[in-house]
Amino acid sequence: MAEHSVYDLLNKKRRGGPLEAREIEFFVEGFTRGTIPDYQMSALLMAIAINGMTAEEMATLTQSMLKSGEQWHLRDSYDFIADKHSTGGVGDKVSLVLSPWVAACGVKIGMLSGRGLGHTGGTLDKLEAIPRFNARLTRAEFERAIDDAGCVISTSTEGIAPADKKIYALRDVTGTVESLPLITASIMSKKLAMGASALILDVKTGSGAFMRLYQDSKALAQSLIAAAAGSGTRVEAIITDMDRPLGVAAGNANEIVETFECLKGKGPEDVVDVTRAQGERVLVMSGRFDEASARRALDDALTSGRALEQTRTWIAAQGGDPACVDDYSLLPQPREVLEVKAPQSGVITHIDTYHAGMFTVDLGAGRKKADDVIDYAAGVMFDRRTGDEVRAGDVIARIQLGHAARDAEALVTRFLSFVKFGEDAPARPLVHEHLK
Ligand code: URA
Repeated sequence: MAEHSVYDLLNKKRRGGPLEAREIEFFVEGFTRGTIPDYQMSALLMAIAINGMTAEEMATLTQSMLKSGEQWHLRDSYDFIADKHSTGGVGDKVSLVLSPWVAACGVKIGMLSGRGLGHTGGTLDKLEAIPRFNARLTRAEFERAIDDAGCVISTSTEGIAPADKKIYALRDVTGTVESLPLITASIMSKKLAMGASALILDVKTGSGAFMRLYQDSKALAQSLIAAAAGSGTRVEAIITDMDRPLGVAAGNANEIVETFECLKGKGPEDVVDVTRAQGERVLVMSGRFDEASARRALDDALTSGRALEQTRTWIAAQGGDPACVDDYSLLPQPREVLEVKAPQSGVITHIDTYHAGMFTVDLGAGRKKADDVIDYAAGVMFDRRTGDEVRAGDVIARIQLGHAARDAEALVTRFLSFVKFGEDAPARPLVHEHLK
């Protein structure tokens, strides 16, 4: 299409008209190759952000973006291989618990995952708290880890969905990040490029979620499922609560410890329950289990110690030191720990999870810019949680610092600013809804 056609397409989308598949493909290919300049792509992104897209347009945009790079077609190499994606949260170590747990049930699972940016933690950052763990695998290493351990988590390689990297960089500076079709195509182009047999989506909702409101989280879940139509990857979503940090630990090394505790059968109930709900769906989607046998298999893998043994095998398969599963002193340790005490008696009615996440980022556990360096020892332990009754002076949290505290009092004051006390915490389910 010639230059005047780009202009016509932009006008068409500006007026709200749906674009044809070949028009979307032309735009994505041209932009990725560099023949369509940033200013025209920016205009298209803004028109999409304002006018939305039909389900067909969204599926085409997703497919065009995934075709801009490598496609791994992993489902052709294995009888069944699962993938999992979370929209992100605070204390969200579900992928870490899920992978060896599902693998211990004989079902393969592989993920190309992301690093943390903003208030949500990144799965890869957590894994890199493990001495020598290699989270930058080539495709051959990725497949070898699946063969050796039944599960793998690695960073997305440069070759996966390059169009998304270029488009995301523009969205970031043109106010077009918050657009349902653009978010959908961005997430699903990367996920579908791996080509798993099935994908379980953990869509979070609440104050620490990407989508805070339930109806927005549900719309995102439905949109992500719709974008996979015809892709060959079966997709289901579970909407889970992120109005409170998940588990007790938020950070990196401390979340690895919590992961191991879960796999030893001693983890916080909420982490185990959210992971179990997803594990059950993965096992059922494999076609080898119904819901009851999936539940039994998961319980058995945990109580028999097989899930924990699988964890050691997995860590070793990615070059990490499996001894840290049993000896937590091998993980990065905080230099200083500050106690936060309840200023009053009562019930903890809310912990604003976005602010809790930003707090851990500022401790050094996360990133505000892509090139920020992570302090793996930094984080927070939420010793008392939403719904807990406390007495004035009780320790409700411990702030873990990788360096000597510069202003301990200010840190404690800031922590207390996002914790509310009262009489009753509103009841919220942990697992809100399952969609397919
Ligand atoms: N995560 C992504 O990968 N892309 C988005 O656009 C938003 C969240």
